[in-house]
Amino acid sequence: MNRINNLKLLDNQNTFDIVIIGGGATGLGCALDAATRRCSVLLLEKFDFCKGTSSRSTKLIHGGVRYLEKGQFRLVYQALKERDVLFKNAPHLVNQVGFLIPTYNYLLKFYYRLGLKLYDFISGNKIFSKSRIVGSDEALSLVPNIKKENLNGGVVYYDAQFNDSRMGMDIALTASANDAILINYMSVESFFKNNKGNVVGLQALDTISNKLYKISAKQIINCTGVFSQSIMNKDSFKLKSPIKLSQGIHLVVDKKFLNGDFGILVPKTSDGRILFAVPWLGEVLLGTTDLELDKPSIDPKPTNGEIDFILENARKYMSLKPERKDIKSVFVGLRSLFLSNKKVKSKDLSREHKIIVSNSGLISVVGGKWTNYRLMGKEVLDKSLNNIDINFTESKTENLKIENGLRNIDFTEKSLSSLFYISKSQIIHFIRNEMAINIDDIMSRRTRCLFLNCQESINLAPKVAKIMADELSKDDDWINEQLIEFKRITNLYKI
Ligand SMILES: Cc1cc2nc3c(=O)[nH]c(=O)nc-3n(C[C@H](O)[C@H](O)[C@H](O)COP(=O)(O)OP(=O)(O)OC[C@H]3O[C@@H](n4cnc5c(N)ncnc54)[C@H](O)[C@@H]3O)c2cc1C
Repeated sequence: MNRINNLKLLDNQNTFDIVIIGGGATGLGCALDAATRRCSVLLLEKFDFCKGTSSRSTKLIHGGVRYLEKGQFRLVYQALKERDVLFKNAPHLVNQVGFLIPTYNYLLKFYYRLGLKLYDFISGNKIFSKSRIVGSDEALSLVPNIKKENLNGGVVYYDAQFNDSRMGMDIALTASANDAILINYMSVESFFKNNKGNVVGLQALDTISNKLYKISAKQIINCTGVFSQSIMNKDSFKLKSPIKLSQGIHLVVDKKFLNGDFGILVPKTSDGRILFAVPWLGEVLLGTTDLELDKPSIDPKPTNGEIDFILENARKYMSLKPERKDIKSVFVGLRSLFLSNKKVKSKDLSREHKIIVSNSGLISVVGGKWTNYRLMGKEVLDKSLNNIDINFTESKTENLKIENGLRNIDFTEKSLSSLFYISKSQIIHFIRNEMAINIDDIMSRRTRCLFLNCQESINLAPKVAKIMADELSKDDDWINEQLIEFKRITNLYKI
């Protein structure tokens, strides 16, 4: 998948069956579903693929244990089914992970046991290990850093985890292999309508070359997550905002804070949410929070209150207690939640998705979970293809293998860092085949260096910039601009 080649394809074709706005989990899922149904498909992403929320999740492919307590059985059932589909179709990116719910009270131990029996029952499969009750010795052997005083063991259960932006890239590659055209750094600016008032095309700006493209489409699908409202406003100002925004942060700390392969699920934090400590790519993720917001941003920042909240709640359950100085990186994601009831707080709103069709035919997808990206794509395309004059074929993604963009990388080449793997040939591969065009694309989403260790990423940036400049035939001014912009971005990952 090469940006210059895809721009050439766009020069030769300006009419598509389906045009998708937004290259996060939702947009990529729609692109893959549409392309494998043999529609002509164009996906336009304003920044980089998965630059928004889709690189900033808790990295779990899960039914969501906490939604059971809220009685959202349909969401849990759908997501657990999708968990199996992803495990089967993307085994290179999805793995089982065990969690301990530590307990310090016998009644709660049996309460959680019952809840997780129900979770096993709803999942109804044999792929993932079943939940079980454990005594304090086993709990300590699974998570050696768990707080020991009054521990009476806990309940162990299993879910799946993944690498979110790598999954996004691999879905993009799979869609591209099925003839979808995907272009990053291309911002949708406006729509045009026919004399019946239907949306029949759009104008998009290539933010690298400043060239404007006018594109016609039988169906346009708005998958811009927290930015959905701004796209809906380009269609009509009369549409009321269907979403509530909230942000969630994660802290990345050393693996010694779990000291094993199991994660912890804290079922009730001081604000009544849950908290995860999850082993991920050799480090530990602690999160998350739920802070309501008025406006979306592509560069959200953590607040001190959120950082303190996570540290304080994690410390209650850990013997070795994480401090601010232990934080290697912080990352922030924004939720777009379907606003079913204005009075409900964001933490209590359902994570189900909603498909909205405007009077002029624009389809917008709001809410949802990474776990359900495939199902969302299928449902959106079922609706789209019913609306337009195209022979309807069934979705094929349930049994479609997701490509592995890293399959040809030689991981025996020496890494540029001793803390995580990143090599020269990998960087060149990302430029040539995965549309990486700046340092952030390489360090945040093709590799996950910035998410794993902010300081080490800052140290490495000049080397990465030099390798990129050589490959792209850029001069020292380009390198300097890149380093300045990357420094601005790293400030968002530091505390
Ligand atoms: C803190 C947190 C933790 C989460 N953890 C999990 C989890 O563990 N498991 C799970 O299943 N789900 C999780 N989720 C939910 C999941 O991450 C989201 O549902 C999903 O990533 C949303 O994807 P999206 O494509 O809708 O939005 P985004 O990923 O935000 O994508 C929208 C894209 O639209 C682009 N865009 C905006 N305007 C334009 C324009 N004018 N032109 C072109 N493109 C445009 C943006 O640049 C962006 O890339 C979590 C969410 C949060 C916030």
